[in-house]
Amino acid sequence: MARYRGSVCRLCRRETQKLYLKGDRCYSDKCAVERRTYPPGQHGQSRGKLSDYGLQLREKQKVKRMFGLAEKQFKLTYVRASGMRGVTGHNLLMLLETRLDNVVYRLGFANSRTQARHWVRHGHFLVNGKKVNIPSLRLKVGDVIAVREKSREVAEMKSAMEAVARRQIPAWLETDAAAFQGTLKALPAREDLTMPMQEQLIVELYSR
Ligand code: SF4
Repeated sequence: MARYRGSVCRLCRRETQKLYLKGDRCYSDKCAVERRTYPPGQHGQSRGKLSDYGLQLREKQKVKRMFGLAEKQFKLTYVRASGMRGVTGHNLLMLLETRLDNVVYRLGFANSRTQARHWVRHGHFLVNGKKVNIPSLRLKVGDVIAVREKSREVAEMKSAMEAVARRQIPAWLETDAAAFQGTLKALPAREDLTMPMQEQLIVELYSR
């Protein structure tokens, strides 16, 4: 499936919730969800109650869009989660959170996951001292993510690192801003994931 190239604010409005897809703007009063609290489109204000299937579908779309994945990538992640030990829903979220692009965003090296993915592809980061350019790389406990020496002067990266205070760095990550690096201390527990996500609905959707 082709990547979505329309307005990302429209995606948040469709889920009637902030998905933080645009960086700085998401924290300002220009945020489209703050200004229009109903879904977009001609029938946005007149949509009726959702069926069980509708609720499950919306939850899947929300989480998929939040992490910026295409349907195929998301489904593959789900299949992998369902083959792991433990609770499938939690495994799914854990796999999504430990992607390299997400960790770069969570550590504050980028303002959004889209920007993080772009910078990873352009080789601005090292994992355990080695250059990587795969946004979907799954990180392990103890992995050290660092900004490459020559990338430390990128103005947008510096401003992202200054702005990270408004969203907290999660407890499962450790950052050393002075050294431009961070560490995956532990795999995220369910209670560490504070975004409103009902992963059980996604499991129910794919189990149909
Ligand atoms: Fe979503 Fe950010 Fe746009 Fe607000 S500004 S609607 S949070 S992408």
